[in-house]
Amino acid sequence: MDQIAVVTGASRGIGKAIALHLAEANFRVACVSTRVEQASQVAEGLPGEGHLGFGCDIANSAAVDALTSGVVEKMGVPAALVNNAGITQDTLVLRMKNEDWDRVIQTNLTGTFYMIRAFSKAMMRARYGRIVNISSIIASTGAAGQANYAASKAGIEGLTRSVAKEYGSRGITCNAVAPGFIETDMTQSLPDELKDHVLKTSPAGRLGSGADVAALVTFLCSESSGYITGQVITVDGGLTL
Ligand code: NAP
Repeated sequence: MDQIAVVTGASRGIGKAIALHLAEANFRVACVSTRVEQASQVAEGLPGEGHLGFGCDIANSAAVDALTSGVVEKMGVPAALVNNAGITQDTLVLRMKNEDWDRVIQTNLTGTFYMIRAFSKAMMRARYGRIVNISSIIASTGAAGQANYAASKAGIEGLTRSVAKEYGSRGITCNAVAPGFIETDMTQSLPDELKDHVLKTSPAGRLGSGADVAALVTFLCSESSGYITGQVITVDGGLTL
């Protein structure tokens, strides 16, 4: 029987590419984004049958609990959970408002925690699970103007290692993937000079695509990855070497 995977932030960008790769690997995918219409549209476009779209603000604990019940009821217990949804709200520390800080931490870090806490209950009972959290190279490099984002992603990496230790004996792995510069809506507004810098300094000599990230995520969601846990794996074309 096909396994079920939950992917947050599946409406576009990296999450949409992950949903496609997982569907191609015979997962039935629960596509999650803030808007159910967009998520359902992506789910309908995936190869194979049984994919569904769900609307959920992952920053809201009650909404995440309702999402969990909905996915389990309509699709079954997920074998894989990909916490990909994330936002930026860039500005320098001295100009950063409390709301800029809180919103990014609440969505990226706390939202990931809510999702893991909610979905891992059923995974624990099944004594099987694959959790993949999307971090960023910014967690380890830092970036001027991204203190909130960098802190949220560094938090995700600590969360990943702790979950790996807590859940290891239950057949559940938890890993993080740290992408470099990937062409999506999130990076579209960044200055051309930054893109040129990436092109010039990255050994790969190109910007990344959603598919570059999705290939690794799909492997980490597979049964074959069972002896890899608590790791942060970089997908950046060698940019941070
Ligand atoms: P994106 O194109 O901006 O898409 C973000 C996705 O997250 C959308 O599907 C969005 O849903 C969803 N989302 C945002 N807030 C949400 C919330 N509160 N609840 C549920 N879903 C929410 O971003 P991306 O570039 O694909 O990035 C995906 C992940 O990769 C993020 O975690 C990002 O930090 C990380 N990352 C990206 C890059 C890069 O270069 N692009 C590099 C490193 C790491 P809606 O459509 O409903 O808004």
